Parts: sequence; structure tokens; C-alpha cells
Amino acid sequence: MKPSILDAWLFDLDNTLYPAESGLFEQIRARIGSYLVRNCGVNAADMAATQQNYRERFGSTLAGLMAENRVEPEHFLSFVHDVNYEAIKPSPRLAHALAGLSGRLFIFTNGSRDHACRVTDRLGISGVFEDIFDIARAGYVPKPMPDPYRDIVRDLNLTPRNTAFVEDIERNLAPAKALGMTTVLVSDSAENSASAAADYIVSDLSGWLVDFGTRSS
Ligand SMILES: [Mg+2]
Repeated sequence: MKPSILDAWLFDLDNTLYPAESGLFEQIRARIGSYLVRNCGVNAADMAATQQNYRERFGSTLAGLMAENRVEPEHFLSFVHDVNYEAIKPSPRLAHALAGLSGRLFIFTNGSRDHACRVTDRLGISGVFEDIFDIARAGYVPKPMPDPYRDIVRDLNLTPRNTAFVEDIERNLAPAKALGMTTVLVSDSAENSASAAADYIVSDLSGWLVDFGTRSS
């Protein structure tokens, strides 16, 4: 398909702008589990199931904890992002690909701004983004709830049909697609070879962005 002219790009952060193989998000998941055990009375054996339950019911573990345990979000976020960022290596290839895109570039993340800044600093791409729409700006309502998609369109003055959204979690694409955005699923899994929510499925984001920029110019 040929999208209309894109004038804005929204990028998820975790496992989208850096590779899942870095293990950074595994570190964060482990910290979330520790938080549940230390602060919320969850048994270690139930950590993973509790996270999954909250993600399914509320969109994220944090949203579930805020709803059911009155967790203070900034306390949670600083705890779970206390990880070793050296797992993220500089990516001149991604920097080159992003620099070649026309339009405004943003990060749209369920994580915190501090976390996004640390990751983009490590990758060497911090200068390319006009703004970061983090979970605090979303009022702690996470993707894939519809509210933050409406909020980001309004706050950043986006035209959805001229906006692309790049994500590694398929269910997070659906609300963007419903608004009329062009959707890009970052995945190297064969089971995602077809997706109702994704206009494009890409395994090598940097390579795909370079090709896309070349085809569009
Ligand atoms: Mg992600």
C-alpha cells in the first residue's frame, strides 16, 4: 500500500528502538517482579502471573498497581528503571536511518521520560526527537488504552493519516490504526507474518526506514 505523505513518526521505545536481544527489558521485567514482592505483598512464585494479569486487565503492571494497590507511579518507575543501561550499545545505523526521515519524530512510551533519555543517549539518537510523550504525560494511562492515542494527537498537533506509529507489541498498534495512522510492527517472529493491525511488519527497523525514506523521496 502507498501511505499518504507522512509528516510525523511516533516510535515506541522498549524493544523497538533497541533490540530485544539487549536484555534491557528483561532487566526491567525482573525489577517489576521485585517491586511486586517487596512493596505489594506478592509471592515470588506469583510474580510473572501477577504482571500478566495486570497487563491484560489494565494495559500495564503500573496501571494495575495504581488501580488496586494505590502505588505511587514515580516511585514505581524509578525503581523498575534502576537497571544497567550498558546493555544498550550505540547504533550509528539507527541514527542514520532516523536522520533520513522527513517529518517530526517523537517517542511514545509506557515508560518514563528519564528512561527514554537514558536509552536514547546510549543509542546515540537523543538529538533526533522533537519530544517524548511518556507515561506521566499520558496521565499514567498506558497503551493500548485509547486515551493516550487521542491525547498524543491533540498535544503534539498530529494529523493521524499523516502519522506513522512504530511498535513491537501488536495490540498497541490497533488504536493507532483505528485513528487512521500508518502502523509498523517491529517483529522477527514468523507468526506475525500477517497482522490486521499492522500495515508493515519489519524485522530490521533501520534497514526498513532507510528503504522507506528512499522510496518516499
Ligand atoms: Mg515496546
